[in-house]
Amino acid sequence: MKSKISGSKMWADEKHRLLHIGEKILRLEPELLNELTTCKRDIGFSIRLHRDNGKTEHILGWRVRHRNPYNTGTKPYKGGFMLSTSAGLNLLRTKAALMTLKCALVGPNENERVPFGGSKGGVRCNPDELSRNEKGQIMEKVAEELNNEIGPTLDSLGPDVGVGPEEIRAFMTRYAALNQNKGIPCGAAATGKPLEDAGGGCPGRLTATGLGMHYILQEICTNFINVPNLPAMPTAIIQGFGNVGGSFAEFSRDFSIKIIGVSDKYGGIYNPNGINIPDLIAYTKENPQRTVNGFPDAKSVNGDKLLLMPCDILVPAATENVILKQNAGRLNSKILLEGANAPTSLEADPILRERGIIVIPDILANAGGVTVSYFEWCQDTQGKSWEECTTKSELESYMIGGAQRTIDASLRFKTDLRTAAYITALSYLAPALRKKQRWDKSKKSLV
Ligand code: NAD
Repeated sequence: MKSKISGSKMWADEKHRLLHIGEKILRLEPELLNELTTCKRDIGFSIRLHRDNGKTEHILGWRVRHRNPYNTGTKPYKGGFMLSTSAGLNLLRTKAALMTLKCALVGPNENERVPFGGSKGGVRCNPDELSRNEKGQIMEKVAEELNNEIGPTLDSLGPDVGVGPEEIRAFMTRYAALNQNKGIPCGAAATGKPLEDAGGGCPGRLTATGLGMHYILQEICTNFINVPNLPAMPTAIIQGFGNVGGSFAEFSRDFSIKIIGVSDKYGGIYNPNGINIPDLIAYTKENPQRTVNGFPDAKSVNGDKLLLMPCDILVPAATENVILKQNAGRLNSKILLEGANAPTSLEADPILRERGIIVIPDILANAGGVTVSYFEWCQDTQGKSWEECTTKSELESYMIGGAQRTIDASLRFKTDLRTAAYITALSYLAPALRKKQRWDKSKKSLV
């Protein structure tokens, strides 16, 4: 189903959610609500791309900063950067606000969270039509355009749709060259860096989002009383087989989950007996489009139809706006685990609630990515390097802390998990933002 929801409707819907929960449930004051429903900074730019075929194209890019409850200069804004045809100002505002919320939600205890504000960026292009060289060129130009706007304690970039370790490497190489005489320790200006060739990456970052989703799922299934009974080996269908969907699949056997369907933008595959994930990964590496389509040990299914097929856990892990009011009434799963950002529209949420489908919201489910980005940032700023096992055990404690707080809020406020996750994040953000407002005002009165 092609997304029919514009970026401006997405941002309006996100503001509606923030206002509804902030005003009606938490009774936050207008000044704070105003802050939460506006972005601190929108930056727009254009890039001249020299295509391999000799042609030149102008493409548009943005970086958006939502809110940072910490003082910049100490803790940065943090957010991914996407290469996608859907990149646009309002979509990025929506995703930047989700970043602020997820950082305020997950953490090992009441006082410790991911200490970043939320940001997001992107360039509007189709990465499938670009060569590796062209994508690298775009990321180098992004480094040039945003040189004064990105930095280890100002705003730190990360991976997102169409951007993986190689694109982050291209960004960092140019960023480091531009800043070599300024004495800035550049490493933490971006996370999701490659591990190979001294790329500066953190072991475990590439698979962090998928692994984090399993920790969250396990905690919710064990301790949330509203989850319906699941079999000993629940079945799952995944939409998207990139960083998020692929890494969720990769760990599925360790968590006793049977993957019966997978789709990507080229098509879907289904096998009720279970898909052999190592074989599927090998298959995607061998075909030029790197697609799951045509995998021999499964039957081909249209990607939209796959979303409606029976399973215990449906995992949208591709793109925004895929669960809409048009298909929410026909989903055939018990749990919706949101690996992607904003996969469910505002109108679809009450339909799912009515039908008793447990939605594990994006700001909780996929927060493993920014959590391990935080660990990478810590290692860069402190000049240390962690073992992968340390990353995994720290990730688990951040995820479980976030899930437990969300479960508690859900029981206390008698509400669904998405509302509970927003209540938890906003309850942490509100006092921190108030403190920052007071600090800003006192600074002004001294001038
Ligand atoms: P990616 O570019 O690595 O992979 C995207 C996958 O989705 C690809 O397999 C692509 O073919 C597939 N896809 C695209 N459109 C589709 C469609 N209509 N139907 C089926 N499949 C489709 O991107 P990613 O990094 O895995 O990000 C996926 C989602 O997860 C995004 O919403 C992103 O914002 C979110 N997210 C990413 C991270 C991260 O660290 N990369 C962290 C948290 C959340």
